[in-house]
This record gives sequence, C-alpha cells and structure tokens, in this order.
Amino acid sequence: MSKYWSPLAASLVPYVPGEQPKDKKYIKLNTNENPYPPSPKVLEAIREAANADLRLYPDPTCDALVRKIADYYGVRPEQVFVGNGSDEVLAFAFGAFFDPADPILFPDITYSFYKVYAEFFGLKAELIPLDERFEVPFELFDRENGGIVLPNPNAPTAILAPLDAFRGLLARNPDHVVMIDEAYIDFGGQSAVELVKEFPNALVVQTLSKSRSLAGIRVGFAIGSEELIEGLNRVKNSFNSYTLDRVALAAAIASFDDEVYFRTTTERVILTREAASDKLRQMGFEVTDSRANFVFISHPAIAAKTLFEQLREKGILVRYFNQPRIDNHLRVSIGTDEEMDAFLTALQEIVAARR
Ligand SMILES: *Cc1c(COP(=O)(O)O)cnc(C)c1O
Repeated sequence: MSKYWSPLAASLVPYVPGEQPKDKKYIKLNTNENPYPPSPKVLEAIREAANADLRLYPDPTCDALVRKIADYYGVRPEQVFVGNGSDEVLAFAFGAFFDPADPILFPDITYSFYKVYAEFFGLKAELIPLDERFEVPFELFDRENGGIVLPNPNAPTAILAPLDAFRGLLARNPDHVVMIDEAYIDFGGQSAVELVKEFPNALVVQTLSKSRSLAGIRVGFAIGSEELIEGLNRVKNSFNSYTLDRVALAAAIASFDDEVYFRTTTERVILTREAASDKLRQMGFEVTDSRANFVFISHPAIAAKTLFEQLREKGILVRYFNQPRIDNHLRVSIGTDEEMDAFLTALQEIVAARR
C-alpha cells in the first residue's frame, strides 16, 4: 500500500501469471505455451522487419493484418480488431461493452483474468458454477446481466461446449454482448466466428499466443459486428494509438501465410495430447476430455499440491490452482512427445513411491 496510489490502484487484485523461473532449466508445462517454435517464415519476416523503418510509428489501424485476418476467416475488415495480445483485446472489450448496471456473468471456474478486468472497470461480477462434470450450465446464464464472457474450450478445464449452446445464448441475450474467448479453439474445436454473421452481439476473441507459437510477440484479435469493432476502436484509441509494433505486425501476417506449418504443429500437439491423456488414465488419473493444448487432471489418492511440488523438484513445472473446487487438480500444458514422456515418467515415479 502506498499513499501515492489512486483508490483504483489500491483496490486492484492483479492477475498472477504462471511462473517463468530463472533459477534452473525446467520442462515448462505451466503456461500453455506451444512446444514448437514459430514458423520459419515468421522468423524470416521478423528479421526483415528489423530495419531502419523502426524509427517510424507503426500503422495505427494495423490495416494489413486486419485484412489478412478478415480474408482468413471470411469476414469484412470492418469486423476485425487487433490488439497487443488477446488479454488487451479482452480488457478493451470489458470497457467497451459491459454494463455496470447489471452483473457480468462468467463461470466460477474459468480464466482468472475476467474477475480482474471486472474490478478494473468497476463492474459487478456473478460467477455461475460449472456443473459437477465441469461443464458450462448454459441455462443458468439466462438471468439479468450486463454482458457474458465464456472461454471455449474453457480454461483450465479444457472442455469444449457445442456451438449450438452459444447460438442459444446469443439469441436469448440480444441486448448484451456475449464474448467467446477462443484462445484454444485451434486444438480441435469449431470456431464461433460463423455466429458473428448471425448475431450482432457476438464477439469472438482469439490469440496467436497458443496455436501459432507467438506468445512472445503479443498479438490477439476479435471478430464481431461492425458496431462492436467500432466500440473496441473507440476504447483502444482512448488508451494507445499504436498497440502493435512493426515487428509484431510482420510476424502475425507471416503466420497467417504459413497455413501448412500451422496445421502441422497444431495436429502434432493434438496427437501428443491424446496419447498423454490415454497414459494418464491408465495410471489412474481422472482426465477431462480436452480440446485444448493442455490437460486437466486429478489423482484419486495423491493430492494435486503434492504432485505439483514433487514434479517441481524433478524439474517439471505444471500449474496448480489453490482455489475452491479445483485445488485437487493440475493443469498440464502439452509439450513435445519427449517432454510429455519425461513428465509421465516423473509422475509414474511419484505415484509408485506412494504405494
Ligand atoms: C492465454 C489466454 C489468453 C491470453 O492470451 P494472450 O493473447 O497471450 O494475451 C486469453 N484467454 C485465455 C482463456 C487464455 O488461456
């Protein structure tokens, strides 16, 4: 606490990202990064963009990238907004669309940044409990609200909800924005982008951090009706005109140009996920049906916190949430096959030592 902090700064409870330790080399399965490098064409584009033009501001409207994404998803450029990571896009969207008069709805178990944004923008939040199988009870979202945000697949549960459930939710909420955070959609889900054509209140948010291996350059985007995108631009242009730098713009464009690499690496992650899920189940773990680049697991006899600590001692980082309902679960990002073998071997040793 400092006397210099504004009442706003003093009231915040910031998000705590997964650790990026520097004390030794770990197998990092804790922040859902992609185990594969960005496409070689992306790295080439970055090298090319590192030139004398960096003295100039980047394009404030990010035209070339906006058009690239619009083409890729078959929408108009006026329906695309890009930002400095999807976290920034989500924050702008909370500010642009959510009504402080009524509570914002999101699940009790979900991406913990939503609560942080709600507080930052002075919004009330109402947490809707996931059912006992960790599925989203869509019918419970039929209540007074100032807006809804839902990730699909949800995090950290990894569970995908069907598109029809979102169609219903959008149809029953014509006066409020329903935000669908598709950070993990490329790992086996069907995007809600097609719903944007039907519903002016649908905002689909995606990121290049996970499926496109670009967490380090910070690019996210939203697709929605023209009026929603204009709302986002109003907020963005009240904070920062140049949210994406020249290097990030070049990298993001090159990523959408290398479809083969994107398909190959996401498919590889999916295959590794399926193999790891099978092995975990054989070892006695409960594993949700993941459509993301991570698995959400629990063991009937060994506490998640113990597993987390012992894995860490063996040089493997996973994510443990000290939170009601999920404090006996671990979220494990999908690494390479070699990394997952090392993780499963370490886990096997821990489980065996307990017998
Ligand atoms: C990783 C993640 C994000 C943020 O991604 P960035 O684009 O890196 O900011 C947003 N939502 C969910 C659910 C995520 O897991």
